[in-house]
Amino acid sequence: MTGGSAGRPSLPLVVCYGGTFDPVHLGHLGAVRDVLARTGCEQLRLIPCHVPPHRGRPGASGAQRAAMLRLATAGLEGVRVDPRELERDGPSYTVDTLASLRAEFGEGVALAWVLGTDALAELDRWHDWRRLVALAHLLVLDRPGAPRPEAGAVAELVAARTVSTVAALRGEPAGRIWFVHQRPVPVAATEVRAALASGRRAEHLLPPEVWAYIRKAGLYLADGPATQGATAESE
Ligand code: ATP
Repeated sequence: MTGGSAGRPSLPLVVCYGGTFDPVHLGHLGAVRDVLARTGCEQLRLIPCHVPPHRGRPGASGAQRAAMLRLATAGLEGVRVDPRELERDGPSYTVDTLASLRAEFGEGVALAWVLGTDALAELDRWHDWRRLVALAHLLVLDRPGAPRPEAGAVAELVAARTVSTVAALRGEPAGRIWFVHQRPVPVAATEVRAALASGRRAEHLLPPEVWAYIRKAGLYLADGPATQGATAESE
């Protein structure tokens, strides 16, 4: 820990970005680059989920999704793939993941969980949602077309906890909400899987290493080995 201005601590910042990543695409990578640039975080962990609650089963295995994430982020300093949700049985509740990260890092690190404004609007549907901000900060990607919540319990939390600088996140281990403007990259994994299942190309939506991996492994083909689609819903 180093001393911050005005006598506040300046804790190392570890940012965690969870998702299905089935597969990781250019939209995810754009978000990763934005978060790295805006936060200057010491570490960014990409955390593929094991069994997303309320979703269909992923089209690629956990090992394959993690492998694609590693290929896509190999050149990005400070970024690592964290397989803890793949190694855990049962649903991938974010609160459990944060509890295990907090146990690993202790209180001397600021943890931040990334989510979009679309997910923030439904935060009160997440398992044990109030404990999330006891364990970590929320780093919210302000996505065009998804307004911030204006009424209800989540809006109250946002009003009480929002800070305006990343330095404020480094001032304590958890408990704050920081909005980051996100440059839109209009890609969704659903679109990638649908293109591949119908025989269309998808390399313009993906990092080249991930496209090569998908072609080699024969993923997401209509009659391929792993074609269960996922339907979008929050935790
Ligand atoms: P699907 O189409 O299967 O629902 P997805 O493309 O939305 O998948 P996820 O793995 O569900 O990808 O997303 C993980 C995280 O990345 C979520 O927080 C989601 O909001 C965010 N995300 C998804 N697509 C984009 C994008 N184009 N730009 C920025 N963030 C994105």
